[in-house]
Amino acid sequence: MSRVALVTGGTRGIGEAISVALKDAGYKVVANYCGNDDAAKAFMDKTGIAAIKFDVSDFDKTKEAITQIENDYGTIDVLVNNAGITRDGTMHRMDADQWDAVIKTNLGSCFNTSRAVIEGMRDRKFGRIVNVGSINGQAGQYGQVNYAAAKSGIHGFTKALAQEGAGKGITVNAIAPGYVDTDMVRAVPPDVLEKIIAKIPVGRLGSPKDIARTVLFLVDDDATFITGSTISVNGGQHMY
Ligand code: NDP
Repeated sequence: MSRVALVTGGTRGIGEAISVALKDAGYKVVANYCGNDDAAKAFMDKTGIAAIKFDVSDFDKTKEAITQIENDYGTIDVLVNNAGITRDGTMHRMDADQWDAVIKTNLGSCFNTSRAVIEGMRDRKFGRIVNVGSINGQAGQYGQVNYAAAKSGIHGFTKALAQEGAGKGITVNAIAPGYVDTDMVRAVPPDVLEKIIAKIPVGRLGSPKDIARTVLFLVDDDATFITGSTISVNGGQHMY
């Protein structure tokens, strides 16, 4: 029987590539999204993958949605915590809403989703959790104290949960992408983006598929000895 995979923020950008790669590899995939219904519909039409709308920053709504997904599609074996946002600003201009939104969406979501699936994974003695961090959680970034703190938090979260899951057949790993060609990066002003690309040794932005193939590697049934790791996929921009 196919393993069931939930990809948060799985309808656009990196998440879309992850959803499609998992489907192509034989997983039964459910993609989550939050607000962009048009993109979700286009994604469903194109891929045939179910897209379910809920806000992963909301604990109760996430729990409710995951219970429903498990009833409809089967128990979740693979969880990819990919949903993320930016609300950039330097500290002296950042307001509390910018801070809260990014911490709740990018880091709080990992607790909300993992909490909803972890007991089942422990009972079944199998689970694969992959959390999408960022190069900016490793190296910091001007104008992103909220984002860097949330992504850095993901790396600690990953190591702690990996220790708890290790004896129960559950692996927990993180990927730290560098700059990847998605809507999030296309929102960066072109002159700033040019300077960023100039600092990437391989000389290009990453593609969503570069991240998706790393997820596939980590969630494989045979990948039982890799846990608590962060894999950097950044074209050599930051060697950590
Ligand atoms: P996009 O902005 O292209 O897509 C974000 C996805 O997350 C969308 O599907 C969006 O849904 C969903 N989402 C956002 N907030 C929520 C929420 N509260 N609940 C549920 N879903 C939500 O992002 P990317 O593909 O660029 O990024 C994906 C991940 O990779 C993020 O965690 C990002 O921080 C990380 N990352 C990205 C890098 C890059 O260069 N692009 C670099 C390093 C890390 P909707 O369509 O409804 O808005």
